[in-house]
Order: sequence, then C-alpha cells, then structure tokens
Amino acid sequence: MIRGKTVFKCDNCGHKFIGIDAELGATVLTAPVKCPKCGSYHTYPPSFFGLNKSIYKKIWEGMDRAE
Ligand SMILES: [Zn+2]
Repeated sequence: MIRGKTVFKCDNCGHKFIGIDAELGATVLTAPVKCPKCGSYHTYPPSFFGLNKSIYKKIWEGMDRAE
C-alpha cells in the first residue's frame, strides 16, 4: 500500500532523496527504495533513524539474500 512520498537516506553513500512511501508487508515500516545515486537498496526514512535502524539492517540482509 502506497502512503505518499517521504525522504529517504542511503546508508551506503549518504545521499538523501524523495521516494515513494510504501508499506512494507503489513507493518508500519516504509519499504526501502533504490538509491538513485549509487543503486543500493540500503535506504531508510531518517525519521526512523536510531529507533529502527537495527530493524532496517535485518530488512537489507533479507533483500541482499533475495538478489
Ligand atoms: Zn546511495
């Protein structure tokens, strides 16, 4: 489900960009989107930074395995 747009930050290169805010599964989390600068999927909404970055690390690990 798409909720609108939000700011993402790339954990790989530090680039900040606007992306589509889509629900990850049936959770309140925002699904990571591809960084337009470096192509990494290791992105997250900075509003979750600190609180949920450990959760995003697990998501990224799952995405890396799926590639
Ligand atoms: Zn990047």
